[in-house]
Amino acid sequence: LKSHLKDPSLLETRAYVAGEWVDADDGATFDVINPARGDVIAQVADLGRAEAARAIAAADKARHGWAARTGKDRAAILRKWFDLMMANQEDLALILTAEMGKPLAEARGEIAYGASFVEWFGEEAKRVYGETIPGHQPDKRITVIRQPIGVAASITPWNFPNAMIARKVAPALAVGCGFVARPAAETPLSAMAMAVLAERAGVPKGVLSIIPSSRASDIGKEFCENPIVRKLTFTGSTEVGRILLRQSADQVMKCSMELGGNAPFIVFDDADLDAAVKGAMMSKYRNNGQTCVCANRIYVQAGVYDAFAEKLKAAVEQLKVGDGLAEGIDLGPLINEEAVTKVEDHISDMLAHGGQVLTGGRRHGNGGTFFEPTIVTGVTQHMKVAQEETFGPLAPLFKFDTEDEVIGYANDTIFGLAAYFYARDIGRITRVQEQLEYGIVGVNTGLISSEVAPFGGVKQSGLGREGSHHGTEDYLEMKYICLSV
Ligand code: ADP
Repeated sequence: LKSHLKDPSLLETRAYVAGEWVDADDGATFDVINPARGDVIAQVADLGRAEAARAIAAADKARHGWAARTGKDRAAILRKWFDLMMANQEDLALILTAEMGKPLAEARGEIAYGASFVEWFGEEAKRVYGETIPGHQPDKRITVIRQPIGVAASITPWNFPNAMIARKVAPALAVGCGFVARPAAETPLSAMAMAVLAERAGVPKGVLSIIPSSRASDIGKEFCENPIVRKLTFTGSTEVGRILLRQSADQVMKCSMELGGNAPFIVFDDADLDAAVKGAMMSKYRNNGQTCVCANRIYVQAGVYDAFAEKLKAAVEQLKVGDGLAEGIDLGPLINEEAVTKVEDHISDMLAHGGQVLTGGRRHGNGGTFFEPTIVTGVTQHMKVAQEETFGPLAPLFKFDTEDEVIGYANDTIFGLAAYFYARDIGRITRVQEQLEYGIVGVNTGLISSEVAPFGGVKQSGLGREGSHHGTEDYLEMKYICLSV
């Protein structure tokens, strides 16, 4: 991998703690594996609670000076960081694909997406506005200022090794917080490469640390129990989110949670079917179905069900599966064996209850964790996929008759992250977008992510929003000042 990089120093296997590149105290390492080939591509420092505690202490020390700078000053550094990420886009994408498996073209897209948060929140650094409120008594003057919350810690998954960290660290640094990140053990290299560039951009020592570790729960405990940490930001499963919320309750810590989804994708009779197929392809098969906003349940109205299924099949059969580092690949491998088993489990559950495979359905001939992009028809609300996220390249097609019926199905889940629908009738569009209980609704589009818009879920999909001018909110505290004159 190193020999393929224009700048080999971006491939860092040591941790970045308190402004220094270090090994684990006990010298331990863990392996990072390329899921497309199954080979070990790096051995990374495997840190524990002690190193995490040092990073937290350093962040606390460094944050005051960082916060005392002007927003414009911090903005300039974040802008530099953004420029460096884009200048090194190709290397960062190579590292990302090597450790995570997504096709290089998607990895390049993710680097640009991640960098866009650094750019956006750098700009927002100058706009952390307060408020004045007319006094409640003649001698009183009321002002409200917004100040950085303190040290923020993040725990992130492997499916977007760059962007999941970028959209947390960027607002935190923009408003003047210190930040300690624990990347997923599958994908620590992208996080370290980001830190190499942050250091070059001029982020002061200690403000940012990266804690690679194979012991997720140890680091999670340090983040939740260390009294210096005032904010925990997590992206991952609802199950782990609940654990972290419980753990952080003792310290009454502010938490942001981007948790699981179970996105419905609804195609009404009046939809532009070609556009709906295109949207479904993007929403379902992007990142091989491994995103929390991927369509998990595709509901198609009876009148267009067969036509939609045929068109989707034709598009799916064009997809090329292979090593993401090769050109022209649409789907890489799944992240690991467990992910493959989950897809197989959902398919066999559907088949056992009357579903039929329209295309795909099996492990791919490439072996390893490659899987055929799959469509199953005749899927109903009684099957597992109606309640659980597959997180793989499986499109289950449900049939429905009426608008009320499908809204009932769509909302019948504990999750509420993203939902999509295709329709033309303006009355229907208005009714459906209002009734879907989701934080994000895509209407006639399968792609909804952007740094300018608030991303986040309702119900058990999470707490808080990332991106947009609201995205700094989670890293700020409000202070009301009452002055008697
Ligand atoms: P995913 O299936 O996307 O990996 P998880 O919720 O299992 O979702 O993991 C998300 C992140 O949380 C990963 O980096 C994982 O290592 C970490 N994690 C898992 N369990 C814990 C825990 N008990 N405490 C802290 N972090 C955890």
